[in-house]
Amino acid sequence: MEKWELLTDVRATLGEGPVWDEERGAIVWVDILEKRIWEYRPADADLTSYQLDQYVGAAALTESGGLLLAMRHGFYAMDRDTEKLRALGDPEADRPANRFNDGKCGPDGRFWAGTMSMGDKPGQGALYRLEEAGRIIRLVEGVSTSNGLDWSLDGRTFYYIDTPTREVAAFDYDRETGRIERRRTAIRVPEEDGYPDGMTLDAEGKLWIAHWGGSQVTRWDPETGRKLDALALPVPLVTSCAFGGEHYDELYVTSARVGLSTETLEQHPLSGGLFRFRPGVKGRSPFRCRDL
Ligand code: CA
Repeated sequence: MEKWELLTDVRATLGEGPVWDEERGAIVWVDILEKRIWEYRPADADLTSYQLDQYVGAAALTESGGLLLAMRHGFYAMDRDTEKLRALGDPEADRPANRFNDGKCGPDGRFWAGTMSMGDKPGQGALYRLEEAGRIIRLVEGVSTSNGLDWSLDGRTFYYIDTPTREVAAFDYDRETGRIERRRTAIRVPEEDGYPDGMTLDAEGKLWIAHWGGSQVTRWDPETGRKLDALALPVPLVTSCAFGGEHYDELYVTSARVGLSTETLEQHPLSGGLFRFRPGVKGRSPFRCRDL
């Protein structure tokens, strides 16, 4: 079986949301709870980071090479050269106990991201789409822990994980109207596999899921709901995954340390690191968000 490779031992508290930046030849990801964005270039092992002043749930790349961020207090645009932030709107200013969690740029060039209660209260979150500065659409209500998301190869199906459901939901997605509808269950993750967290679609239309409390990433056929493959990691809290590398044949995987006991951390000292596999399958280049 394909074995993991540790790329950087950054010991992220809550590493999340990897996305490949083709121009920089780098993988970009966040440490939500340390309010930090990481950037690692495998070619020369160059590691940089950007320190923010609030929780950052997800980052997406824009067409011009900037970032859109989903943070504790809403959406922001960030210029990586100046590290300047510009607020784009907060759809949950009335829900101060929530923060943004996972997000990704969609095939429509817009940033999709969801929220969760910081106290893990069920049903407090929602999924949003940032249309433009000050215009944010609420797509799904009553979400507990908004997590992995991606779109089918034809762009007509949206896949979505609300972690405590242990399911991947599928919706019809109509790019013309922007609507998602007809929610159904595509994949059920068995209890012994841990919780489904971040997710990415590969070039064959199959889904790769990171397992929180499951020490693995798995590959599934969303048409049949069948598990096709599993890759083991040396850490329990596997949070998200994304394809990258020049040929998109590398799978980058993030992980976390938050909440682990001293004993567990001694047994799994690489928790919080960034890992890589060469799974023998290619991914797609990530969608780029329109600059706002
Ligand atoms: Ca997550």
